Amino acid sequence: MAEIKLTNVGKKYPGKNADYAVQGISYTVLDKQFVSLLGPSGCGKSTTLNMIAGLESVTEGTIEIDGVRVESLEPHKRDLAFVFQDYALYPHLSVYDNIAFGLRMRKMPKKEIDARVKESAEKLELLPLLAKKPRALSGGQRQRVALARAIARRPGVLLFDEPLSNLDALLREKTRSELRILHNDIGATSIYVTHDQEEAMSLSDKIAVMSRGHLEQYGSPDEIYNTP
Ligand code: ADP
Ligand code: ADP
Repeated sequence: MAEIKLTNVGKKYPGKNADYAVQGISYTVLDKQFVSLLGPSGCGKSTTLNMIAGLESVTEGTIEIDGVRVESLEPHKRDLAFVFQDYALYPHLSVYDNIAFGLRMRKMPKKEIDARVKESAEKLELLPLLAKKPRALSGGQRQRVALARAIARRPGVLLFDEPLSNLDALLREKTRSELRILHNDIGATSIYVTHDQEEAMSLSDKIAVMSRGHLEQYGSPDEIYNTP
């Protein structure tokens, strides 16, 4: 179970005369929902996602996951996984070790790690690539490793920052539909950053439309695009 509640969230990066990057954001993402943060570059999507992940501090307001402030937990105790646009794989580790990394950090028994790595690799069609290093993989394969690594822990929350933007159009479409399947499969609550309206509409239960650091609208794709 993972419900994410933002209450009047604001962010100012350090710096003289810095303006708010994000201000007055409130909404609740219900357990198992898939929510997109949609808006043009610079509107505050990544800042919001990074605060939900606890990677950036909150200047104002609160972010809670199941009633617990994100910053109050140590990073490895947060029940979430982050998928970055640039994959962020460890270049010196094999695909297997990349997927296993977070499980080892959490001191999971070896046998269970092995089972989970293989299960995730199978879901993402990576079984033949487990011994390879990231540099020997295509961009699409690297992104699949990043996804396998994220789901291997079966986190309550999945966070995606434009995970498809480095893929070509065909692969983007294929991976997009798989994303939703993975989300359903592990029963996660997902937040997905994108500037692509079509992507947001096809994937999401709800869309948070952002503009210049503010929340413009929050609703289902239907509510947002089909109201007269
Ligand atoms: P995106 O718009 O896809 O999030 P950006 O190119 O805006 O990517 O940002 C890439 C990285 O640079 C991010 O980690 C972001 O936090 C950081 N960044 C963006 N704007 C600034 C800024 N004005 N000063 C310092 N870092 C920034
Ligand atoms: P988006 O993800 O929608 O492209 P961001 O959250 O990256 O937007 O950026 C929102 C605003 O915050 C932008 O004005 C950006 O320049 C600024 N910003 C982002 N990251 C940093 C940073 N690390 N330091 C200073 N300003 C930043």
